[in-house]
Amino acid sequence: MSKYVEIWDEIRSYLDFAEKSFFWEEKIQVTQKNPDDGDITVRINILKKKIESCTRCSLNLNRKQTVFGAGNVNAELLFIGEAPGEEEDIQGLPFVGRAGKLLTDIITAMGLRRDDVFICNAVKCRPPDNRTPTDEEILLCNPYLKEQIEIIKPKIIVALGAVSVRALFKSKESIFALRGRFLNFNGIKVMPTFHPGFLLRNPTYKKHTWQDIKLVMKEMNLPVPENKEKNKKQEVNSI
Ligand code: SF4
Repeated sequence: MSKYVEIWDEIRSYLDFAEKSFFWEEKIQVTQKNPDDGDITVRINILKKKIESCTRCSLNLNRKQTVFGAGNVNAELLFIGEAPGEEEDIQGLPFVGRAGKLLTDIITAMGLRRDDVFICNAVKCRPPDNRTPTDEEILLCNPYLKEQIEIIKPKIIVALGAVSVRALFKSKESIFALRGRFLNFNGIKVMPTFHPGFLLRNPTYKKHTWQDIKLVMKEMNLPVPENKEKNKKQEVNSI
């Protein structure tokens, strides 16, 4: 009988140990990951569903699908472009195709991956023939963009092109006048710069975008390459 008591004591002490170590540890691991993770994912998915069925403006009539955005919902850096193009409309992803490749090159030149940042557009449906979204379309889609920003809470936003700046600030100033200095959107630093699509058509402005991106890197405490002439040429050519 005393042997059974001994065995039972052993089992109980193991269960005590397991509860205090293994199971408890696992509980801590889950809660320590990021307390807001679950909440952010749930909120992002609810917003995504809402956008998928949106018919607020006429852009819903010709879209193949909405393009919500992609990347890391916990990202410190958010890129906002203009609107989906043909390839984005087909794939349902932002910045694919040639402009997307250039944006990926810019992100890589920063020492980051696309998975480290979040990428979206000011307008979530493709305008016909890739025309610029109208003020009305930007305005009607604006609550979605603002909710995305509110959920992701980035430290810095890079506004790619004039439409993106207009969506955030209602500013009609040219991107030439706005680029190169931080603006403030509800406490978030915003760097306006040229849209990758514009850079493909006007590669001489790549060096200006690289200057803007270096200011963003500095703000994010990312290592900024030295300003040597040789390096400058390599970096500008690489994006
Ligand atoms: S562009 Fe925006 S507002 Fe217009 S239908 Fe698409 S999601 Fe809705």
